[in-house]
Amino acid sequence: METGEARAARPLILALDITGAPHGWISWQIALGHLASGRIDRSLGDFSFTFHGGQSRLTGRRSELTISSIVALRGRNPRGWEPQAPALSNVLLFQRDHHLCCFCGAQRPAHALTRDHLRPLSRGGRDHWKNVVTACRACNQRKGARLPEEAGMGMLYVPYVPSLYEGLILRNRRILADQMEFLRSLLPEDSRLASWRT
Ligand SMILES: [Zn+2]
Repeated sequence: METGEARAARPLILALDITGAPHGWISWQIALGHLASGRIDRSLGDFSFTFHGGQSRLTGRRSELTISSIVALRGRNPRGWEPQAPALSNVLLFQRDHHLCCFCGAQRPAHALTRDHLRPLSRGGRDHWKNVVTACRACNQRKGARLPEEAGMGMLYVPYVPSLYEGLILRNRRILADQMEFLRSLLPEDSRLASWRT
């Protein structure tokens, strides 16, 4: 039996479709389900995880299943895949911006950061990837309900919508080196995450 701790530490498995295009993260439980039902077409990861099942009454041997860190699945949309476009959240926003305040450049932990709307919501601004940046509390307060140019505050970077593959990188905080490498090879050159080091 595994301990709860060991189970919690299991990484997520990167699921690709049959053509090799990434589609999302799946838990190892779901990956094992795909393995058992023959839906895994091929394994591409550098890492593999072995799970021990029950003991066979006939042979006395324990069953063993091995899952790769990256798997290509048969079929069109196996259950357990996440939606593709990353939804806006503070966690992903701060990661997109490397926890750097857009105005003063200070790097802060998440609890000291805020989501700043470049065009404030009160003035018709949207809660969208391209209208939001990471800001420290002091800068957010100083800017108030103004545009950056009205407040005389320069911006250190430009907000953008993370691509599907960046979304996959941002969503998994325990990403493995081979999974990171695989996804990074698919990023456009202007992506900030293309040069990201884990
Ligand atoms: Zn700041």
